[in-house]
Amino acid sequence: MTGDEKEEEQEILTWARNYAKKHHWVLNPDEKKLEVVIRGLARNKRKFGEQYCPCRLRSGDKEKDAAIICPCIYHKDEVEQDGSCHCRLYFREDAPPE
Ligand code: SF4
Repeated sequence: MTGDEKEEEQEILTWARNYAKKHHWVLNPDEKKLEVVIRGLARNKRKFGEQYCPCRLRSGDKEKDAAIICPCIYHKDEVEQDGSCHCRLYFREDAPPE
């Protein structure tokens, strides 16, 4: 991994932490799993120009795929209902992962 890639990941992680804080959520406390999601977001940003969700399939249609740019349109309902978003990046504070 290049220095630039590391820096990109660090930026996304910082953004995600701030976003979680703003919503009174927490990021996945499992560092390894967190890293996988952050790496996937950074990779998509590099490859496709947007931080598309690494856990969902892109259709290739930019308009449709706008729905899955992190934070996707589904995450609030998922966190509320399931305790975490589909990628398990964001968690409700009272719903720690098993
Ligand atoms: S499921 Fe989570 S990680 Fe994936 S785009 Fe939605 S908020 Fe981001």
